[in-house]
Amino acid sequence: MRKVWFVGAGPGDPELLTLKGQRLITEADAILFAGSLVSDAAMQWAKENCEIQDSKGMTLEEITDWLISRAVDNATVIRLQTGDPSLYGALVEMVQPLDKQSIAVEVVPGVTSAMASAAAAVETLTLPEITQTVIFSRVEGRTPMPQGESLAELAAHHCTLCLYLSITLLKIIESELSAAGWANDAPIVVVYKASWPDEQQVIHGTLATIREKCKAAKINSQAMIIASPTLGARHWPEIKKSKLYDANFTHRFRKADKNTED
Ligand code: SAH
Repeated sequence: MRKVWFVGAGPGDPELLTLKGQRLITEADAILFAGSLVSDAAMQWAKENCEIQDSKGMTLEEITDWLISRAVDNATVIRLQTGDPSLYGALVEMVQPLDKQSIAVEVVPGVTSAMASAAAAVETLTLPEITQTVIFSRVEGRTPMPQGESLAELAAHHCTLCLYLSITLLKIIESELSAAGWANDAPIVVVYKASWPDEQQVIHGTLATIREKCKAAKINSQAMIIASPTLGARHWPEIKKSKLYDANFTHRFRKADKNTED
């Protein structure tokens, strides 16, 4: 049956595509990819006669018209999206016109850039007794933030913040995090083009320094901002260990040495 697949291409390195995403690319009759952020390298597995089109410069309507017209004649049509399709990917806006045409849709998840950025920097986003919560968000740009989701309100939790689409708005991040009580020396990591071979850059700074550092490195797009009390934990002399590996902690796969689990 004809189907349009929304496939998460991952953050850039083609080896971070899922096996399922890669298989679908080998089978696809037509692929529409988000050119500015999806690496061409992902197309290396496409069949010789697969129609491949970059969606850079296309409007949402042109994109959905393209997908619908290709789905009429072809069995497997792919919309290749950066990272994971469910985050800042206009997924529903594209699915609705396909639903109207009764074209089947399926989504294949991808590695989102927040995860690739944490990996690039060898950082953990959760740490026992420091924070157990991660917020994926962005700073208000042209898209307004719903009530209760201003950065100052989110930052008041003092948990991990992964901020998409916001690298040109570091000044606002500084003032909102300060307003929420984050210290000037609170660590911030910015990762440019996480996982892209030869292009990735990891910038370590603080609330007070990160803007200057990014300016000096000329980073003004395709970057993830991570603000978290966990950053740099790799270099802390002591951390609270995860209970999962504690000898005194029983879980489904292992019995505790002593019976002191909580
Ligand atoms: N669906 C995508 C996000 C699309 S919005 C995902 O799951 O990752 C585009 C934003 O994602 C960029 O502004 C940037 O903040 C982030 N981004 C995408 N690819 C990135 C990468 N390789 N490294 C760092 N940030 C990236």
